[in-house]
Amino acid sequence: MAHFIPEPFRIKTVEPIRRTTREERAALLAEAGYNPFLLRAEDIYIDLLTDSGTSAMSDYQWAGLMRGDESYAGCRNFYNLETAIQEIFGFQYFVPTHQGRAAENVLFSILVRPGLHVPSNMHFDTTRANVEARGGVAVDLVIDEGKDPTSHHPFKGNLDIAKLRAFIERVGPRNIPLGMITITNNSGGGQPVSLQNIRETAAVLHEYGILFFIDACRYAENAYFIKLREPGYADKSPLEIAREIFSYADGCTMSAKKDALVNIGGFLAMNSRELYERACQELILREGFPTYGGLAGRDLEAMARGLWEGLDESYLAYRLAHTRYLADRLLESGIPIVEPPGGHAVYLDALRFLPHMPRHQFPGQALVIGLYLEGGIRAVEIGGVMFARKDEQTGETIFPELELVRLAIPRRVYTQSHLDYVADTIINLYQNRESLRGVRIVYETRFLRHFTARFELV
Ligand SMILES: *Cc1c(COP(=O)(O)O)cnc(C)c1O
Repeated sequence: MAHFIPEPFRIKTVEPIRRTTREERAALLAEAGYNPFLLRAEDIYIDLLTDSGTSAMSDYQWAGLMRGDESYAGCRNFYNLETAIQEIFGFQYFVPTHQGRAAENVLFSILVRPGLHVPSNMHFDTTRANVEARGGVAVDLVIDEGKDPTSHHPFKGNLDIAKLRAFIERVGPRNIPLGMITITNNSGGGQPVSLQNIRETAAVLHEYGILFFIDACRYAENAYFIKLREPGYADKSPLEIAREIFSYADGCTMSAKKDALVNIGGFLAMNSRELYERACQELILREGFPTYGGLAGRDLEAMARGLWEGLDESYLAYRLAHTRYLADRLLESGIPIVEPPGGHAVYLDALRFLPHMPRHQFPGQALVIGLYLEGGIRAVEIGGVMFARKDEQTGETIFPELELVRLAIPRRVYTQSHLDYVADTIINLYQNRESLRGVRIVYETRFLRHFTARFELV
């Protein structure tokens, strides 16, 4: 039986959500070109589009907003954030940024030049795009188990150490300004990385004199996975584990919209004074003065408080069990998902869900449309619409290996009965899967077409 840990919080403020009728949803979908990105959020009942910036803040964080010091320079909230970053992450220096990709932009503007390589377990889209925008090459070296949706490896986010060493030998350490690890591996399904793997990655990079940065967005969820799964860590607190993780790195980028439980914010941290001074130059050009970096004082305060709250053990136990509960309810009904579930999302395997539907009819998108039509639930396709490309020689479409639908779970927002509603809707859809219709693209842009594409049912 799917097991649930009751929420370690109670509800003080409510935000009404509206259930629409099937007829309304059919009309709204047609109007939006069958692309849920183009729906109004108010027309959605359960929104699982992303876990980014969608967290519910605590009373303590909201109270912190009133303590926002909106002085241009040296506001008190900056120093509160500095204390949190030094005590949790242990880095000497940091600059706040308005979100994660801004921290990436600042870091790569300093370190990446055309032709240089940046290896990682798996770069997140914005990380890859920011490396490439500087003319660099972003390389993914995740272990093979990380790409297999049926593998039950406990740390499917691990970086392949042998591949890393071979890669450095091949391109030469002088062409690699930094190596990275994303915790948890978002693009790979939110799978965790072990402490042993982080330690070994750092050792190899440092042996060659290469800097090691961590993409830290889900540092707390990753720390709790280590506590649950890695021998020797069961008695350690998430804070102790986080401190050990970052002790091996030279710095980190962070989108606080994830595990820091805020709606906006991020930072770039490092130990090198020289890197910090260069980061400040870039920050002043693009984000703002180094003690606010594109955020209001109140945002800095909410982030400082959220960084600590994200590590609360009863919250993390509930958080991972919450995601696991939805996965287990689906597995009990034979619904094909990526196993084991990661920390922040459950992924439906559309190819096994709709085996009768050809790839060119985009089964993932068909499923996303079905979820909204059936239950007013918004999810996102991660498959052919997002990643298929044309072969330049033959003109043939090359589809990605996996065709997934991501159900990302906002933090502290939905209750167990909301998850039951989502599970029941998907089970119902699965029982009627023969009736789901594929789509054809009628409008698309050249880059990142999934955001704005319009479809027609076939
Ligand atoms: C969200 C995310 C980013 C980018 O952060 P934004 O705040 O969306 O700019 C980078 N890396 C990972 C792993 C992420 O999940």
